[in-house]
Amino acid sequence: MIVARTAAELQRLRRSGLVVHRVLQEVAQAVRPGLSTWDLEEVADQAIRSQGATSAFRGYRGFPCVLCASVNDEVVHGIPARKRVLKDGDIVSLDCGVVLDGYYGDAATTVVVGDAAGLPEAVGKLLTATQASLAAGIECARPGGYLGDISHAVQTQVEAAGFSVVREFVGHGIGTHLHEEPQIPNFGTRGAGQRIREGMVLAIEPMVNEKGAGVRVLSDGWTAVTADGGRSAHFEHTVAVTKDGPWILTQP
Ligand code: MG
Ligand code: MG
Repeated sequence: MIVARTAAELQRLRRSGLVVHRVLQEVAQAVRPGLSTWDLEEVADQAIRSQGATSAFRGYRGFPCVLCASVNDEVVHGIPARKRVLKDGDIVSLDCGVVLDGYYGDAATTVVVGDAAGLPEAVGKLLTATQASLAAGIECARPGGYLGDISHAVQTQVEAAGFSVVREFVGHGIGTHLHEEPQIPNFGTRGAGQRIREGMVLAIEPMVNEKGAGVRVLSDGWTAVTADGGRSAHFEHTVAVTKDGPWILTQP
């Protein structure tokens, strides 16, 4: 069942969303060559605590950390580690979820580490295209539309830019749980699926590969990497459907 949230609930989701935004902002600003992804985990952990929130990730199906930090060919669910040291020209996806007063927020961003000057042009294009596909998906989160409109908009943007959408992981409803119905694939058909209604809250999250769409999960049971070693980007927002259109809860 897809839950429609009341105005009071949306205000609580907004508070959680802004916590996530500030955590990601702090972590993104901390990113620099020589830091490990564990250092970023510590920044995120402190930022969550200082805002009186709790991690939605740590302990979720046994995930050990508050942050997913996925470097280069890692698609999602990278586990922060001291031995994973960032270097100039890496890209790192930062994904964070929190719960505050029983309501969840979830967002992700991908940033370049250090000096971007020497980076292949394709890397900048990958980040821009992934962000644009998220914006296109969010634009479709309006009452009267269909969930397939979001999926189709994301896919169309990504493929027009020459990149591939990951099939194995999807966006999701969010509210009093991290993952609720419906699932929101990043590929699909306009006009397909359920009607979008006012009060729905959706985490829309394109995962986009530089080369092929294929992914595999490493032996740690979490880290998803591209099958062909190409880079991957991930952007996510938690979005409420209002009568006036999409309200991005994880963006001020
Ligand atoms: Mg997320
Ligand atoms: Mg999510």
